[in-house]
Amino acid sequence: MSALEVSASRYSLTVDATQTFESLSDVAENESGDRLRDALAMALTAKVTYATVADRVVTSEDIRPGPGDSPDLTCMSCPAPWSIVKTLESAGFLTAQNVLVELTGDTYLSEGRSVTIINVVKPFTVVTVDYGFSSSERWTATDQSDAVPAGWYLLGEVREHFDTKAIACAVGMNELPDDVVAWLFELEGFGASTCLAGCSSCGSQWRAESGDWTFHPDGCDVGSWVYDDADDFHADTIACPECETGRVGFTVH
Ligand SMILES: [Zn+2]
Ligand SMILES: [Zn+2]
Repeated sequence: MSALEVSASRYSLTVDATQTFESLSDVAENESGDRLRDALAMALTAKVTYATVADRVVTSEDIRPGPGDSPDLTCMSCPAPWSIVKTLESAGFLTAQNVLVELTGDTYLSEGRSVTIINVVKPFTVVTVDYGFSSSERWTATDQSDAVPAGWYLLGEVREHFDTKAIACAVGMNELPDDVVAWLFELEGFGASTCLAGCSSCGSQWRAESGDWTFHPDGCDVGSWVYDDADDFHADTIACPECETGRVGFTVH
């Protein structure tokens, strides 16, 4: 099993939620995924952005302030990736289905995370506009994303309490597994639901599941213990509850 780097301190025992998506990037198609990610990121960071069909050339006249937007330009002033996705869905560029939402409670994740299946049905591009309020009377299309091709994508977001925080991962999928969630949890390093603890001195091993902090012996004849009672936190290890002189380190799978 490939393990995630664990952060272990007095009040926390976690793995970085964003890091769990690396297992997905490793097996998916990243070229189209990067295009989707860049387009969404552009819509997130620029003040004014429009989405339009991929081969549309946007002129200054199209984005003249005042008379209202051209009907084939979708204005996106969205604070979060999820609202951008919903806006693109309403405009007919894609369909989106949220298939996984996890809060931190049942896992060892540092933050909640979510996964959305996206099917781009109409290739699109995102255009950012600078209306030059400060320096110029002139408005200009300042940047245009590469076209996001039609096809299946998985979008991973790191979030807390349904309040979207950031895009963690966007990948293209040449084919979609029948059960995407089951497939994801079979990827090494995605699960983040099992925590193994082991002492480098006495060799004792323990296991905890589903975000729980109670560690039970894992194939050896030692006692259980609770993380709350751990002592001497140092460099993501604790004093061994069994031999007391050794250090116990953690891995999450
Ligand atoms: Zn020990
Ligand atoms: Zn120390």
